[in-house]
Amino acid sequence: MKIKAIETHVCHARMRNWVFVKVVTDQDGLHGWGEATLEWHTRSIVGAIEDLAELILGEDPTRIEHLWQMMYRQHFWHGHGVVRSTAISGIDIALWDIAGKVAGVPCSKLWGGPVRDRVRTYCHLGGGRLEDFYETSTAEAARFADLASRAVDEGFTAFKSMAVPPTMPLEGLRPIRAAEACVAAMRDAVGDSIDIMVDCHARPSPAMGMQFAKALEPYGLYFLEEPCWPESIDGLAAINRATSTPIATGERLTHLAAFRDLFANQCCEVVQFDLTHCGGFTEGRRIAALADAYRLAIAPHNPQGPVSTAASLEFGFSQPSYVICETVHDDVPWRQDVVQEGFTVEPNGRFVLPNTRPGLGIEINEAAVKQHPFQQELPQRVYYEDGSVGDW
Ligand SMILES: [Mg+2]
Repeated sequence: MKIKAIETHVCHARMRNWVFVKVVTDQDGLHGWGEATLEWHTRSIVGAIEDLAELILGEDPTRIEHLWQMMYRQHFWHGHGVVRSTAISGIDIALWDIAGKVAGVPCSKLWGGPVRDRVRTYCHLGGGRLEDFYETSTAEAARFADLASRAVDEGFTAFKSMAVPPTMPLEGLRPIRAAEACVAAMRDAVGDSIDIMVDCHARPSPAMGMQFAKALEPYGLYFLEEPCWPESIDGLAAINRATSTPIATGERLTHLAAFRDLFANQCCEVVQFDLTHCGGFTEGRRIAALADAYRLAIAPHNPQGPVSTAASLEFGFSQPSYVICETVHDDVPWRQDVVQEGFTVEPNGRFVLPNTRPGLGIEINEAAVKQHPFQQELPQRVYYEDGSVGDW
């Protein structure tokens, strides 16, 4: 069996262009789907996949580790820049989809699964509607509470909010109090049986992240995400040491050695590698094994398209330390038109039951994808009050 073509199918979904990767074999009808979505980098990703194709066209698609090594190492530059690692991930996921189809089993079964009966999921406030999640001001605590109640009404037992505003490296009490008010309002609205997550989006400096972590500690967050830049290993470690709230991070790390440094410095209790950025299932399984040595929880980053979701769920049925999967369901109203999924979602609780179809169990509707061709992603720009540039 040989790889005959590697195609990219770009689907504009408002905030992101989903980049679906189709690896086509020379066997009649046998192909695999992956995803290599990287917001605001769509053209780069499509080009990076073209660059990688020349390495693996004509090769046996079932030699996945061998092909991964070629893609990661054989163009001199190791493949951990985020564009290259995302492109590798998209191809790798598609190769595993093919392997599952060849074996006639879901991917999780290739890795010894299923290890659980169902996977728990959580949503963004607003279900993925970017205005609700990213643009609700922390001055509007009541709005956070309303959106939290709506998530629970939609069946979720856990949700994530962006209740920490952008801050300069040092600011006074105002943003701290704003974050606290938003989290207090959400906790009041949903009670103690629902899990609340706060994503700081790596906006704070280590000093501000520490203050947010301390202020939010009494509210019993399920986790506090990216309380400072991922480059600030010492800052993450200090915050994680100082609070009982589990610290989550890892969505921007793209290779095993970066996770080694994160874990060895005890920076987090929850690791959020993104299977579409970290090198796909091949590298993701290594990262998960390393995380197990530190007894960390796995909760993958997954705000992208439906192939990323299928991959993240399939992975969850193979990894014992996996606790919850990020999902978006309302980013665009036609999300379900582009994909047929092999798994089912229990509406009460939003638990996912295993896919029983081969591979990832999905098929992409290419005609539906063509109805949403590439458009420039909507900009999301952050400036501080003095006009200087902040982190989104
Ligand atoms: Mg995040």
